[in-house]
Amino acid sequence: MMKLFDKIKRKLTKLRMQPIRVYCLHHVCAKFDAEAMNACDWMQIDEFKRKILSLQQEGVEFISLTEVYRHMSNDIFRCHKYAVITFDDGYASIKEILPWLEERHIPVTLFINGKYIDGKSYRKNPKEQYLTQEEIFAFTSLLIEIGSHGWEHIRATGQTEVEFNESIEKNVGILSKHPRYIPFHAYTYGNHNVATDNILKKLKVIPVLIDGIKNYNDTRYIHRELL
Ligand SMILES: [Zn+2]
Repeated sequence: MMKLFDKIKRKLTKLRMQPIRVYCLHHVCAKFDAEAMNACDWMQIDEFKRKILSLQQEGVEFISLTEVYRHMSNDIFRCHKYAVITFDDGYASIKEILPWLEERHIPVTLFINGKYIDGKSYRKNPKEQYLTQEEIFAFTSLLIEIGSHGWEHIRATGQTEVEFNESIEKNVGILSKHPRYIPFHAYTYGNHNVATDNILKKLKVIPVLIDGIKNYNDTRYIHRELL
């Protein structure tokens, strides 16, 4: 009976609300570099621009993740189509696309691993380049928001609860000094469980997933999809 009630409630929500789509990207730049990127994480810059412009032509308005959370928390009806652009991992390659987004007043959220912002590479691709701490803290535009991706790029469920807790506290400790910090954590590979969710809840950080789901008004998670 309860399940049927929930099903009807979900259907009614979908009828009165436009979904909000949160897109997850990694590298967006002109040229693919096999020594610096994974092919599945790269989008050619012109393809990215085409996709964004075509969404705007369909009436989609790009807003910030903070605004999305506000809509998800407050909207009773939603006719407008909203979307958000997020970049994971803090790759230096996105410096090619940020000015174009800024010119068009399109907000973005960057999910950063604090360990990598000293300008060195720690991951599997030898020439992987990250935004540096200096570059990240120079982003003071109101169009940029900075969220957490964990201290290191490690699956949350591969860590003990103590390790995961430390990883978030350490990362948030650095990033929260940024004037554009927002208390959202994008799980690495979207990987999570009840224990990790409870740790984020305790730390008052909102979990962000990559599960291909659109957002309506359930504020327990921000769901994301690939562009
Ligand atoms: Zn990632």
